[in-house]
Amino acid sequence: SNEQTVLNSRCPICLERIQNASYLNPCFHGFCFVCIQEWSERKAECPLCMQGMRTSCLLQYV
Ligand SMILES: [Zn+2]
Ligand SMILES: [Zn+2]
Repeated sequence: SNEQTVLNSRCPICLERIQNASYLNPCFHGFCFVCIQEWSERKAECPLCMQGMRTSCLLQYV
């Protein structure tokens, strides 16, 4: 599944294993919750695909 893929992959921001995976809306790229939260304070776009994101719509799976 999609969730499994992300859990086994690395966060593009910190390059560590993803912790508290969070998925952006609408592109569904996965990052650590903390990483993408920090990132979103500076840029309102996905670090991977540069799509505009809605931080209020972060989807979090713990
Ligand atoms: Zn991270
Ligand atoms: Zn993206």
